[in-house]
Amino acid sequence: MSAPARIAAGHLYVVATPIGNLDDFSPRAQEVLGGVAAICAEDTRNTANLLTHFGIKKPLIAVHEHNEDEVCARLVARLQAGDALALVSDAGTPLISDPGFAVVRAARNANLPVLAVPGPCAAIAALSVSGIASDRFVFEGFLPAKAGARRERLAELATETRTLIVYESSHRIAEALADIVAVLGAERPLCLARELTKLYEESRRDSAAGIAAWLAADANRTRGEFVLVIGGAVEAPDRRQSEGERVLKLLLGELPASRAARLAAEISGARRKDLYALALQLGGGQTRDDDA
Ligand code: SAM
Repeated sequence: MSAPARIAAGHLYVVATPIGNLDDFSPRAQEVLGGVAAICAEDTRNTANLLTHFGIKKPLIAVHEHNEDEVCARLVARLQAGDALALVSDAGTPLISDPGFAVVRAARNANLPVLAVPGPCAAIAALSVSGIASDRFVFEGFLPAKAGARRERLAELATETRTLIVYESSHRIAEALADIVAVLGAERPLCLARELTKLYEESRRDSAAGIAAWLAADANRTRGEFVLVIGGAVEAPDRRQSEGERVLKLLLGELPASRAARLAAEISGARRKDLYALALQLGGGQTRDDDA
């Protein structure tokens, strides 16, 4: 059984809201928003609609990218006076390509407690359904809007071996995909997730070129909100290792396995242990030795 959300005085609650499906608004998020003194919101009208839907009535404070720095001092003073406050954005997790960072930083700088009320986040939702490696990933937010800057950013990311996650809007999705094909390559594995948790939710995994062609085949597919999950670059085989293997094979004709492995490791910089294991697999060198 979950504990009731007790609202602590002077705490700032960072609360995630749905990215489409209102059923994803957690009971704890609703309880916290219903219990704080006021809610800082990116767009007060948008948040008012959400709160009305859930029967929550609270004073709203506008905190958006243009006034974030100015309102911080006021919010910190309220927290220090003992008011509990919540921070939400228009959809999903605040601060993730959304306003809120200045407020959280100000609260932290003032040594005020900040609590997470986690929930939907389009990047994580897309990654979780992508079928693309999820053990190590890089969130890049939105790629630059201008083509030149976007290609430059993609070129910087071309050798990144971790999975890449980017947000994209409907009016730039086709050109962003064309740039991904051009800069990262037609064969790069990619998952396009569109309208997650909404009526027209769709996600498709293919090569970058395959996704670009699929998108171009139907104008309806370019509608809505998008996340691209892009497979990381395949690591180039370790040059030292291949050089070590080459030298090892030459030396094995003349030397015992352990000496061949030691010399090959010294010459190439590859790991002696790996080369010795390979030497044994290859038959162990000129004379039997077990001093490795
Ligand atoms: N803070 C939000 C989060 O936690 O995901 C992201 C806000 S950012 C301003 C909006 C972008 O997130 C959209 O342009 C889109 O790239 C992505 N996004 C948000 N909701 C989405 C959804 N339901 N399906 C796919 N992408 C979504």
